[in-house]
Amino acid sequence: MVCYISIVNLLKLKNKHSNIPIFIPELACPHQCVFCDQTKISGTQAIPKPADVKDIVKSYLKTIPKERHINIAFFGGSFTGIPIILQEQYLNAANFFIKTKQVEGIRISTRPDYISIEILELLKKYGVTTIELGAQSTNDSVLKKSGRGHSFREIETASKLIINFGFELGLQMMIGLPGDSIQKSIQTAKDIVRLGAKNSRIYPTIVIKGTALEKMYKLGLYQPLELDEAVKITKEVYKILDENQINIIRTGLHPSEELTHEKSLIAGPYHISFKELVLTELWKDILNDKLETFDNEFVEIQINESQINYAVGYQSSNKKQLLKRFKNVKFKINNSLKKYELNVSSY
Ligand code: SF4
Repeated sequence: MVCYISIVNLLKLKNKHSNIPIFIPELACPHQCVFCDQTKISGTQAIPKPADVKDIVKSYLKTIPKERHINIAFFGGSFTGIPIILQEQYLNAANFFIKTKQVEGIRISTRPDYISIEILELLKKYGVTTIELGAQSTNDSVLKKSGRGHSFREIETASKLIINFGFELGLQMMIGLPGDSIQKSIQTAKDIVRLGAKNSRIYPTIVIKGTALEKMYKLGLYQPLELDEAVKITKEVYKILDENQINIIRTGLHPSEELTHEKSLIAGPYHISFKELVLTELWKDILNDKLETFDNEFVEIQINESQINYAVGYQSSNKKQLLKRFKNVKFKINNSLKKYELNVSSY
């Protein structure tokens, strides 16, 4: 007999994606993005060689359920900025797993000005499916002040080429860059939608030891965002991307050793639960809006399971706030509701 639960679980797994990450920091990057720690990127980190790719992928495959959509992801630098011969060696090693149907595709991340027709032909040949561009901002003045070395025009041209070649486009953005503002961040999010991105990542700018931004900060030429400002700006950006069905793969920085233990963090809005803070804020607005006219003593709020922690809030902050107005507040799971829907009963 076919078990219904197994089918449901299988479908859930089938819809889940797993990336096998292979970090290839770009050696001696010629650019000078003010926020980037070049010494760490080009320093002593062990970079996997093309010959290591097979072993890395095989060891990950042992731990990932076969039913998932699996991709090999070359992250950590500008993949298309490394010498072509080396790119081909990495891609060839990854392509083996596509040919043998063990993974579905390859993702890479790179800079907008490292995209050309020749590069895209090469990536297509080896089965790359998704290209993520570090756009960071679509405002030329912000890009210039951040030392990015490219303008919005390169982001636009590369995005069009990537889509025309049939790749899935990802556009990453940062908030709080030098010369940035909430209006410019909102415009960047709108441009990401307009350019046809299917996925995005949102990173707050922080000041890292050894960067040009550290010097600017110490000279009083750059002031990082406060954590609450960063959360508010990210919330606005998140809403625009989310409403337009863009898959937001990451909100906030990876909690690395260096950042968490403040070895490299000089200043800025780093928080280990940054995404939770952003979604707490987003739900605070939804709850305030919906409950504005309720004045009974008891409220029960039904929410989809995927959102319940964010609705209750980071360290229950939303619930605590509601308890100042209501005698009793209860959150309940109701999976028939959509992502941002809620049912409220009060008495
Ligand atoms: S962030 Fe800028 S400086 Fe750092 S590796 Fe990327 S392109 Fe180079």
